[in-house]
Amino acid sequence: MDVSLNPVDDQISAIAADELAGRRSRPADHAAESAALVAMARELAASPQTILARLAERALDLCRAHSAGFSLLDDERRRFEWTGVAGVWAQHLGGGTPRDFGPCGMVLEAEAPLLFWHPERRFPYLAATTPTIDEGLLLPFYVGGRAVGTIWIISHDDTRRFDAEDLRVMTSLATFASAAYQAQRESDHRYREILNSLPAAVYTTDAQGRVTHFNRAAAEIAGRTPQVGVDRWCVTWKLLRSDGQPIAHDDCAMAAAVLEGRSIHGTEVVIERPDGSRVDVMAYPTPLRDASGRITGGINVMVDVTDRKQLIAQLQAQDGRKDEFLATLAHELRNPLAPVANCLQLMRRAGGNPSILDNARTIMERQLAQMVRLVDDLLDLSRITRNRLELRKERVPLSKIVDSAIETSRPIIDQAAHALDVALPPAPVLVDADPIRLAQAIANLLNNAAKYSEPGRTITLAADLVDDGVLVRVRDQGIGIPREKLAEIFEMFMQVDASLERARGGLGIGLTLVRRLVELHGGTIEAHSDGPGRGSEFIIRLPVAAPASGRTGEDPATLGEARPEGRRVLVVDDNRDAAESLAEILRRLGHEVVTAYEGREGLDRVATFKPDIALLDLGMPRMNGYEVARTIRSRNSPGPLLVAVTGWGQEADRLRSQEAGFDLHLVKPVDVSVLEEIFRTRVAVQG
Ligand code: ADP
Repeated sequence: MDVSLNPVDDQISAIAADELAGRRSRPADHAAESAALVAMARELAASPQTILARLAERALDLCRAHSAGFSLLDDERRRFEWTGVAGVWAQHLGGGTPRDFGPCGMVLEAEAPLLFWHPERRFPYLAATTPTIDEGLLLPFYVGGRAVGTIWIISHDDTRRFDAEDLRVMTSLATFASAAYQAQRESDHRYREILNSLPAAVYTTDAQGRVTHFNRAAAEIAGRTPQVGVDRWCVTWKLLRSDGQPIAHDDCAMAAAVLEGRSIHGTEVVIERPDGSRVDVMAYPTPLRDASGRITGGINVMVDVTDRKQLIAQLQAQDGRKDEFLATLAHELRNPLAPVANCLQLMRRAGGNPSILDNARTIMERQLAQMVRLVDDLLDLSRITRNRLELRKERVPLSKIVDSAIETSRPIIDQAAHALDVALPPAPVLVDADPIRLAQAIANLLNNAAKYSEPGRTITLAADLVDDGVLVRVRDQGIGIPREKLAEIFEMFMQVDASLERARGGLGIGLTLVRRLVELHGGTIEAHSDGPGRGSEFIIRLPVAAPASGRTGEDPATLGEARPEGRRVLVVDDNRDAAESLAEILRRLGHEVVTAYEGREGLDRVATFKPDIALLDLGMPRMNGYEVARTIRSRNSPGPLLVAVTGWGQEADRLRSQEAGFDLHLVKPVDVSVLEEIFRTRVAVQG
């Protein structure tokens, strides 16, 4: 662009600043200039954002101009925005001129100061900005070596003519402001970087509440891009109290913090985003002050606590269920104790009457079985929660598992006079499963079906082959399950109606166990019900095993010849009652039994009594069962069949007893029929 226009030829009049050199210059006022620079430096420290506005004011003063200002290119470099204006034109702050068609553009193009007379004659749009320019001196403004704006002084009539001294002063101011502006931009950038790197949502406002900065997390949490300079006090669309009541932006915590000059250390609010979703946040608004302590705005940090709140609610619900569970547990444990205590009294007074004794024994056995089942469930539950439940999988026909489940549940089904319909596929279905555990799962469903149905109903147990496995369904005609509870009933301690279920006996852990057992078998379980009073259906989906070419596991390997005659048995247990009662049962079954109450004594008995079988408790004082077994095995004679009888039934416990030399590992309380089976089969193998 041609900037060396001849003012004589061209009355629109833009001229090179050389003109100034020809004018008579006023003397330099260094004192005023350095005072202005010091004042600007102070400003910079206190409030860096306003440096360009201050620059305009200083230029106005020092050059005794009528107006002074600062024009900055916008981000697209298409327009100059008047970011600082002082003097007569102060009212035009925020105005601007196009990049390519105006005095500022020419200065940038020339990269040199220019003096203009009545530029509105060449750029008519300037005529609207009144009073019009009589003479204007414009200098380029550089940031990082790049011209990004202009700084200017204007006289609106011929009472003021600029000279070389004005140019010098303006150059000095511009240089200072440029350095300051650059530093401010860098610090601004750093500040933004820091804000953006924070995981919490952060935004700032000025003292009037207009948003000045916000970070990425703030935009995310608000679900919108906040409008700098427009949004007031909040970056959010809507704010609500925790109880759902709306909060006006002017009444929010940030407004309170800034207007009342106090920090708020965490207040809970709900943000509603424009898409309707809601976020629970903790807000920490704090006023910001300048060096003199004056409040210049505020900063608000917001932390998303939605997950935490949900977690707390979940924990509270779980905690409530646990309390409920403890009450239920106490009740369930006391239930069988009462009849046992009664029976003991009865037996004491029976005077040897065999029918009373027999009756009492039957009751006690039944109640004991109930307690054992309860404790077993509890143990399983604790294994499940610690992920310690282990499966002993084998390839088994599903029918075998189903039979065993029915056998377990039969007493409960019969007691309530229910009919049980069983429908299995005609061809055998093989599954890779722990038969005991899978039967336990199905039995649990059958028990529930029996428990939660009025007497005399029908329970259906069906299995159907489907594409990717087999479905095992247990359906009843009982009390049903409300739709909203269907998913929850698999949660631990969950009972639809605790008072009702308590009356029916149960701890609310059965279905948790069932689901986990099924999942351990690679299966899934779901519950269906058309609602209260309309029955329930539980469907287990299990993968089926590819048919094996050889044996199907119908029967375990033959375990040696049956030897019905009595055995020599040693029982070692530091709990005398346990030892003696077991010994007594075995004696009645025709075996010769000797007891010992500690390890060393047990060892002696092995030497003297030479038992066929030694049943050893593991946890005993002084010499425990492992040591006894090891010592026996270290002697060269073949020794008795060693059976560990213990409360510990984990795979690791079994391994440990095996290492010590035990042949078998049984978990207390031992089922006598299991012992009989062992005596019959294993001792024959021992020979
Ligand atoms: P519980 O020991 O209480 O039976 P479960 O975990 O087996 O515990 O079952 C959890 C809850 O699910 C029960 O308390 C009951 O409310 C509901 N439920 C389970 N099975 C049935 C069923 N067949 N019919 C109706 N409700 C059932």
